[in-house]
Amino acid sequence: MKYIEVQGEKVPALGFGTWQIKGEKCREAVEKALKIGYRHIDTAQAYDNEEYVGEAIQNSEVDREDIWLTTKIWRSNFQSEDVKSSFEESLEKLQTEYVDLLLIHWPHGQIPFKETLDAMSDLVDEGKVRNIGISNFTTSQMEEVEEVSEKPVLTNQVEYHPFLSQDELLEDCRERCMMLTAYSPLARGEVLDNPLLKEIGDKYDKTLAQITLRWLIQQENVSAIPKSSTEKHQRENFEIFDFELEPEEMEKISNLACGERKVDPGFGPSWD
Ligand code: NAP
Repeated sequence: MKYIEVQGEKVPALGFGTWQIKGEKCREAVEKALKIGYRHIDTAQAYDNEEYVGEAIQNSEVDREDIWLTTKIWRSNFQSEDVKSSFEESLEKLQTEYVDLLLIHWPHGQIPFKETLDAMSDLVDEGKVRNIGISNFTTSQMEEVEEVSEKPVLTNQVEYHPFLSQDELLEDCRERCMMLTAYSPLARGEVLDNPLLKEIGDKYDKTLAQITLRWLIQQENVSAIPKSSTEKHQRENFEIFDFELEPEEMEKISNLACGERKVDPGFGPSWD
């Protein structure tokens, strides 16, 4: 495993995403992921699966302190009291005393960032949250957050894969001593028939998914959180630490970017 050293923390660069895995399937998937060796799990209030993530962690033989656990406050809970009450519920579901990282899931204009961030800062002071972060924030929103946040912001979790550049945001994160967490790192499965990734994969005897994840985590301060509900893919995605891409290959993959987003920022039924 590679770790990202940021703000005094050591964050496993490869995590396990859980969006759209629900119920017992989620419990099984997280249990398997922990057995394979994943030590970074990403969930959210909006995923409606925190209790199954919690159960999986309880059932596993891995100590809680060896797992980096992230959850996110959903948009309906951004007022101070709601941050606190909804987070208590998250903790209960996750069957833990604390999370390693608590994110604002997706900004919205109605509640000032400061109100949400202050409430999250109180949770840090109470020892229930180890770090705070944001998700789906633009560079200008990140600047605003930095101005008003009492606590340092560890990451901005955004969509990032070979078809969507995040160069500017990533540079900004590095300048602020933050990391960037790449969500939908496999472009929701769409990297899987790209000729360039295939050609590079053939050279290393790796799959297109492995090349993509390696490209992400080989970048300074970048973590990736692929989701897979199948053990085969979970294992495959974990086997990316035994090879290294050449600088020219890194650049060629970066040049695939064409501004293609896979996650709809509309908040309709797709968030079920
Ligand atoms: P993703 O990880 O890019 O892609 C998941 C898809 O790829 C699934 O269909 C999965 O199928 C398939 N897959 C995974 N590994 C594979 C492999 N080795 N070979 C072939 N197919 C493979 O998409 P994502 O779930 O959107 O993103 C990952 C995580 O990021 C989420 O689960 C969530 O934790 C986080 N996220 C955060 C936000 C946010 O707003 N902060 C938004 C979106 C996602 P199988 O399940 O069949 O393996």
